[in-house]
Amino acid sequence: MSNQIQWYPGHMAKAKRMMQENISLVDLVIEILDARCPISTRNPDIQELAKNKSRLVLLNKADLADINKNEEWKAAFTGDGMIGAVINAKNPSCKKEILQLILEACKEKIERDKRRGIKNRPIRVMVTGIPNVGKSTLINLLAGRASAKTGNKPGVTKGKQWIKLSQNIELLDTPGILWPKFDDPEIGEHLALIGSVNDDLLNMEELAISFMKQMDRDYPGILEERYGLSKEAIEQDMQENDLLCKEENKRYVAMLRQTAFARNALVKAGEPDVSKAAKLIIDDFRAARLGKISLESANK
Ligand code: GDP
Repeated sequence: MSNQIQWYPGHMAKAKRMMQENISLVDLVIEILDARCPISTRNPDIQELAKNKSRLVLLNKADLADINKNEEWKAAFTGDGMIGAVINAKNPSCKKEILQLILEACKEKIERDKRRGIKNRPIRVMVTGIPNVGKSTLINLLAGRASAKTGNKPGVTKGKQWIKLSQNIELLDTPGILWPKFDDPEIGEHLALIGSVNDDLLNMEELAISFMKQMDRDYPGILEERYGLSKEAIEQDMQENDLLCKEENKRYVAMLRQTAFARNALVKAGEPDVSKAAKLIIDDFRAARLGKISLESANK
């Protein structure tokens, strides 16, 4: 699956080379981020790679993210040569807006061409982003079924396919795949929570506990309500059981235990299956069953 790419220095160097090659062919770079964690899904090198290009930053999967935070991010990514927008690439009605935004972002180029008497030179566009942010979904949305491929043209790097999106916009049919930042543990955690890291490599209990702490801070009460957890039951669990964990995590382990009981996730001898409860909570977050939740805020 595309979200389980393991990045090694060689892969990163190759991805960077391809990006450099493709960026040199386009007027506009569409950068896709996950609206739930735009910082963690942003590639560190894009600023340098896409400098001197028009930029459209699409905060995708907005249907899963906090509406208020979406608007803050949109504002944060607008300006300094960029236009920010909030989208859901699975919703066909976004297409029209994106085409308009492409024209808006390239306004200067269009006017410059006009002044110089250059007619019918299309705006060329490419889509970039780290794995799993929705690049293919967006390309499919924009290209549609009726789209016409313009094919290889002389003078254009061999193998590049341009899809005609409108009278004057052409899209590169393959996205630029970027790599995420790995050095910051919080970023790794956010990428894991949105499902961009192979779950087999993760400790789901630790991940769930760190998510629950964040929920307590940013969206208090939601977990308790969803899983029917009472304050008393959590307290009692903490007191009655010798929970083998750090003091600061006891409340969350107790919550996991109570969630497991509530969902009848038990291991032998009637003990709660904490690891199943952890997975359940993370899956509920990923599917927005806990509501529209964002992991990062523009206005911290
Ligand atoms: P890519 O690796 O960047 O090309 O990402 P994909 O286009 O393959 O999308 C990854 C997953 O996210 C797929 O399961 C898509 O259906 C899903 N997806 C893409 N855009 C959206 C969106 O706006 N909302 C939601 N809920 N899911 C989306």
